[in-house]
Amino acid sequence: MADHIESSTLALLALRCPRCHEGKLFSTSALNISKFARMPAQCPVCGQSFEPEPGFYFGSMYITFAFNVATMFAVGVPLYYFFGNPDTWVYVVTVTAVTLLLTPLILRYSRAIMLYLFGGTGYDSSWHTRRRASSEAI
Ligand SMILES: [Zn+2]
Repeated sequence: MADHIESSTLALLALRCPRCHEGKLFSTSALNISKFARMPAQCPVCGQSFEPEPGFYFGSMYITFAFNVATMFAVGVPLYYFFGNPDTWVYVVTVTAVTLLLTPLILRYSRAIMLYLFGGTGYDSSWHTRRRASSEAI
């Protein structure tokens, strides 16, 4: 059975390499507070570079910004409607706390979306076939 994911959307959600859909984009757990953003330089499975050019992930700040605005609405709107428009400090504290808690996930998915959309590579379904053929030849 293949241990890679066929769908690019599911591979993105699973934070896998955009080319082979098998190698992990991040080397540590998202719960590792000091190292959650650490990525290997290249895919441990297929060797695809995870940083196509220096500073590539600066653009993911815009995606992070969109995620944070969505978080602000997802937290602020229910506060307004279900808790009777509390004081401003409640919005600030709640949105800040939720944003900080979601930071590892938001950063990881922002980078993954950046790599999938602008990384210049796509899923190579023949890669697994070629790997199997080359390992059988050895
Ligand atoms: Zn790969």
